[in-house]
Amino acid sequence: MKISVSKEIGFCFGVARAVKTAIEASNKYEGRVYMLGDIINNEIVIEMLKGKGIKKVDRLEDIPNGDIFLVRAHGVPPDTFKMAKKKNLVIIDATCPMVQKIHGAVVSFDRKGYRVVIVGDRGHDEVIGIAGEVESPIIISDKKSAEKARVEGMKLGIVSQSTQYERDVSEIVDILKKKADEAVASNTVCNSTKTRQREAARLSKENDVMIVIGSKRSANTGRLKMISEENNPKTKMVLTKDELDPIWFEDAESVGVTAGASTRIEEVDDVVGVLEEMS
Ligand code: SF4
Repeated sequence: MKISVSKEIGFCFGVARAVKTAIEASNKYEGRVYMLGDIINNEIVIEMLKGKGIKKVDRLEDIPNGDIFLVRAHGVPPDTFKMAKKKNLVIIDATCPMVQKIHGAVVSFDRKGYRVVIVGDRGHDEVIGIAGEVESPIIISDKKSAEKARVEGMKLGIVSQSTQYERDVSEIVDILKKKADEAVASNTVCNSTKTRQREAARLSKENDVMIVIGSKRSANTGRLKMISEENNPKTKMVLTKDELDPIWFEDAESVGVTAGASTRIEEVDDVVGVLEEMS
């Protein structure tokens, strides 16, 4: 069985930076570092960080005054920073610079009088963080909601969540452009996401079976699965090698492998190792 692995695997730049920042913080401030929710969407990595003494809380109020607040890779709304300062927390900001750029873009659109539109998953941490920068942004999660959006007569400034599907974003932008008086879009899908998505599309067309490695909680991994499924019904998603089922590969001559931005290279190597044994 021929095994083809995506050109882009392992942590993306933003996740690698966040994990490194978290580990450095845990060494420096032993036992005093807190993450609000998960710093990245991968349970294996979160357990590893907890093992290093980093604690997870669901509310900022649960971090003791004066302790360390580690901001997740997908960012938080400005109000969270304000609250953290009020509590005298030491803020270590692991927000991905690509996400920070999106925050900057919506602020800039807002200042220029555009109504901000965020193409993204309603309720996702990154979208909540970006939305918090401006008054009443419009959140569009799919083409259906773009069709329904009442934006006639408006001047729109459009951004997208960094891990949205490029193709869907451009279709949504086209729909909004036809409806609004004016619409300007900033392309904010990050490069790592674009490469992973293009590779998932290519590999899923070229191979009999497709394996997507990553957490079910990870939006970008879910998107890779969706893209792959469009081309290949034999797409399977696993968190680790232990979830691989030999039945999936019966009669298969080739398998493609891709992984989400928060999937460690170790999990990819393990999966490829098992596939090689099956070959
Ligand atoms: S997927 Fe892109 S935006 Fe998100 S953390 Fe990684 S590099 Fe940053």
